[in-house]
Amino acid sequence: MLPYGSLGVRIPATLSPVACALKGHFGTVGPSAGAATSNLAHVMHSLLAVAPGTVPLWAWIGVATVAGLMVGSFLNVVVYRVPRSLSISAPRSFCPRCRRQLTWWENVPVASWIALGGRCRSCRTLISPRYPLVELGTAAVFGIVAWRFSGALLTIPYCVLAATLFAVLMIDAGDLRSPLGLAASGSAIADLLLVVATSWHGQWAVLIGGQVGIAIGVGCFAALRSRDPECEKVPGIGRSALIPLGCWLGGLGIDPSLWGAGSALILCCTLSLTGVAADRGSAPMRPTPAGRQIRSRVLSRPLLISVGVAAVASLFAAH
Ligand SMILES: [Zn+2]
Repeated sequence: MLPYGSLGVRIPATLSPVACALKGHFGTVGPSAGAATSNLAHVMHSLLAVAPGTVPLWAWIGVATVAGLMVGSFLNVVVYRVPRSLSISAPRSFCPRCRRQLTWWENVPVASWIALGGRCRSCRTLISPRYPLVELGTAAVFGIVAWRFSGALLTIPYCVLAATLFAVLMIDAGDLRSPLGLAASGSAIADLLLVVATSWHGQWAVLIGGQVGIAIGVGCFAALRSRDPECEKVPGIGRSALIPLGCWLGGLGIDPSLWGAGSALILCCTLSLTGVAADRGSAPMRPTPAGRQIRSRVLSRPLLISVGVAAVASLFAAH
């Protein structure tokens, strides 16, 4: 269980059932402290209570899931363009082979891929199933986050963190330049939203935990970077993901973090040992430096996968 029950979280008693459901997670119900805070809370309350008494949790989860589909479509653009130093805003999405710009109906998440049979309409080039899978994966994670936070404001920063983590891990997994800038900017935006959400709910422990988590993530990144100053030119091993992951775990608290870290550690060791066994049974080693080979084949993928598993496991452990 999260320690939120002891955090003195304050939720206006007149909130919609969605917000009132937070009582089960966050404890104390009552007005926010201070006149200025009350005014701000009233404004935020008005924005949140879209349809007082009529918005069930499943509707919030549905909205988050649809948002996840659209964000997942955007992440596909980010993962393709950021490592290639291309703009993520222009031009519009295009086929990487024939360069034809896609129409709006060719950009509908998942549905377009199915309707086009997984091929470009012009040149018939195969479109990787990774695209709809990323969209579905992002939608699933956003839905889980909305369910976990019962439609509270914390859903927003955690969705931003999830999208940042997802994008960074996918770029790292592609043996491309480690996206430190993406990790840092995504984490900064998410942290700003976390400050707003936790301040409104009065979740000071979550706020402090998030900042401590980011500091630890940055420290771990700096320590790994100091051991390998050229890391931007080497296939990523998940270093950049430590920054948003730190904020994610720090905000959830100690117990969920331990669950997430424990699950990731067990999985990472298992996959690493499997990688060692596969390396021993394989034919002649490639003529690459031993250190890089170990990093890319034994440590890289397991660490990347484990970071993602730690995030999802901690989220479930926090419920
Ligand atoms: Zn094409």
